Amino acid sequence: MTADAARPERLSVMPLGWATRPTPNGPMEMVVGCYLIRMSDGRNILIDSGMPPEMESLPATGGLNDAKTVIEHLATLDLRPDDIAAVICTHLDIDHVGFHDAFPAADFIVQRAELDAARGGHPRYAGGRAHWDHPALRYRTVEGDVELLPGLSLIESGGHTPGHQAVLVRLPRTGSVLMAIDAVPVGSLFTEDRPGTPMDADETDARASTRKLIDLAEREQAALVVFGHDGAQWKSLRLAPEFYD
Ligand SMILES: [Zn+2]
Repeated sequence: MTADAARPERLSVMPLGWATRPTPNGPMEMVVGCYLIRMSDGRNILIDSGMPPEMESLPATGGLNDAKTVIEHLATLDLRPDDIAAVICTHLDIDHVGFHDAFPAADFIVQRAELDAARGGHPRYAGGRAHWDHPALRYRTVEGDVELLPGLSLIESGGHTPGHQAVLVRLPRTGSVLMAIDAVPVGSLFTEDRPGTPMDADETDARASTRKLIDLAEREQAALVVFGHDGAQWKSLRLAPEFYD
């Protein structure tokens, strides 16, 4: 089988920790997570790498329960860091880049606008910089919507950060799964007229990206849209070591 014929075969959804955060509407369940795609030729592609090891707790959310690192999740699946061929970087916030430097054998795929903003020294990226800006890491930049491999597409969705990207995967049995990541961190924001969140760099862009993802999910007749930090939703998902195929 040639590399070009390879298609996504499995999607693992990996929760890295849970927290309950007070909101005006009552306590909300938050999750931090990452994802693994296994291709039909055996290649493994990771999406994000979670909280950094030095952050035992997540101050903004009052600590994480049931924390498990990406490395521990991979070990459960009998994988080591060197088995990861590529890491899709949805964006470079600290809760998404914490173990990037554990994967020096991988290609890191990021939107050019995101890498430029981060390397430009914007303060929001400073906390995780030791991990995403490690000299051993090889970055490959993309611009806009890109079909990375057949059945695996990167969807430019700036607003939360300048170069945020969501990920669409087409699976043989499940169908299309859209990982909105932090373009839509919780399901209640998956509406045409959504407000921004305190973490969004640009509220207008965040709304436009949400509309783009709503359209895409409709066009693709997505079987599932996964929201980046929606703990209540994630409790209803098939979580690693189970998988979608
Ligand atoms: Zn996040």
